[in-house]
Amino acid sequence: MERQSVIASATEEYPWADLDIPDAGGGGCGRLLKVLLDGRCSYDCAYCGVRARRGGCSATPAGIADTFLRMHREGRADGLFLSSGIAGDVDLAMEGIVETGEVLRRRGFRGYLHLKVLPGASRADITDAARVASRISINIEAPSASRLSEVAGVKDYRCDIEKRQAWVAEAMPGRHTTQLVVGAAGESDAEILSCISRQYGRLAPARVYYSAFTPVAGTPLECREATPLWRQRRLYQVDALVHFYQFSPDLIRDVMDDDGFLPDADPKRVLARDLPPVDINTAPLAAILRVPGIGPVGARRICAMRRKASLVSPADLRKCGIRMKDAAPFVRFGREVQARLSSF
Ligand code: SF4
Repeated sequence: MERQSVIASATEEYPWADLDIPDAGGGGCGRLLKVLLDGRCSYDCAYCGVRARRGGCSATPAGIADTFLRMHREGRADGLFLSSGIAGDVDLAMEGIVETGEVLRRRGFRGYLHLKVLPGASRADITDAARVASRISINIEAPSASRLSEVAGVKDYRCDIEKRQAWVAEAMPGRHTTQLVVGAAGESDAEILSCISRQYGRLAPARVYYSAFTPVAGTPLECREATPLWRQRRLYQVDALVHFYQFSPDLIRDVMDDDGFLPDADPKRVLARDLPPVDINTAPLAAILRVPGIGPVGARRICAMRRKASLVSPADLRKCGIRMKDAAPFVRFGREVQARLSSF
């Protein structure tokens, strides 16, 4: 109900407004108002609803700031996620985004502000956006230049996106994000995996987001099947394995089928199927991270605890925050400890 009322309120003035959960780019913010400064766009991205909404409306930076601050005062939006269609000149659209951020900061808003960098934005505008925003991002949309060209002919992947993404990373190291539309360009999960490995390796974004393609009426892809949400979910799991668990892309590829697609199954569990039990007292951190139910925090706690004394039972692992229901079949406590236990 809350979500609906906020959307309704924002859409009185801005029909393209939406409210989203923090994980969709909020970076720890509560309720995030997502809004376009300009609901019109002259670009041709085949998957995009804005493209289909010819004759959409535009707002002014002051107008967006007024609406957001009112909702913020009323406790109905904690942060703002601002993007824009590109009705004409990209510099004008980008300047409008930056100006909105500047107005909000001048008017005393100190909270979460996520500004979208548009493809082809100037370096100066990116620097200015980073100066006022909590987070900035540019969407790569597809895992490669050839895939993007299949669905967005106007955007030049290397120049409009990759070059700008390097500037974004420089302007806001570690606090920028990006997003892929999954399934619009017919790409495989293996292609996405290669792409995100490069992303985390070279540009170190805080997060990569995945948006399952949904056909929009009036677009060239309106008859294409929607990407199942489970694929988006599995990609988030793969992303976590690459980003937080440091799994190698080669290892994750073992989960995929011959065409490079993930099954609808937890990739970490699939990889653990043939795993011999891991000795929790001697195994290196990387091996402990392979165990289902053990994440990076739990694995580090195990390593810290075993430096003081051997872990001898599931209770010790529970103290480290480990979900024994998942981990039990994959761990052992070492021959020495087992022998000591059996002598009791
Ligand atoms: S540039 Fe952005 S708003 Fe414009 S059509 Fe492409 S995805 Fe949609």
